[in-house]
Amino acid sequence: MNKHEGAVSQLVDLLGRLPGIGRKSAERLAFHLLRVPEDEALALSDAIRRIRSDVRYCSMCFNLCEQELCSICRDDSRDQSRLCIVEQPRDLMSLEQSKAYNGLYHVLLGRIAPLDGIGPDQLTIDALVDRVREGNFSEVIMATNPTVEGDGTALYISNQLSEYPVQMTRLARGITAGSVLEYANREMIADALSGRQKL
Ligand SMILES: [Zn+2]
Repeated sequence: MNKHEGAVSQLVDLLGRLPGIGRKSAERLAFHLLRVPEDEALALSDAIRRIRSDVRYCSMCFNLCEQELCSICRDDSRDQSRLCIVEQPRDLMSLEQSKAYNGLYHVLLGRIAPLDGIGPDQLTIDALVDRVREGNFSEVIMATNPTVEGDGTALYISNQLSEYPVQMTRLARGITAGSVLEYANREMIADALSGRQKL
């Protein structure tokens, strides 16, 4: 329990559950929201409401979007022959921010993690195999994170795709083993992409 009352107490509790926000920060944020103009505070609550009601997964690549297809899948100017496989939408964002890649993506929405009970069926691998079978890709780039689970996931997928005539590559180890794409800087990602190796 915190020492505040009613709505303030509830807001402090809820903010305090967000990742990286401790009790002190939660209090600071709650009092900040009481001080700013009302429409500024309400814009935040609207944005939270909208991400839960309007944001969905792209029906093609499983990136986050607000329409049937995301802006990347709708963009004809992108290289339609390359497909980059990432674990999460935020990994896709990191690669996009590097501006080193202009192909398409497929978001797995996780990684195979037997210890957490996450198997291939819980990811978007079936949809990926369909895309590769029906598409015209010449290269599939494994950009799962350089962790034990990310490597295992890349290996599993490369086996699933082995019967199709695509070249499979893996990001170079410019990104230190164990670190995740999300935290890599632009140059590291560009290096990892340009130095990618055949699987
Ligand atoms: Zn998409």
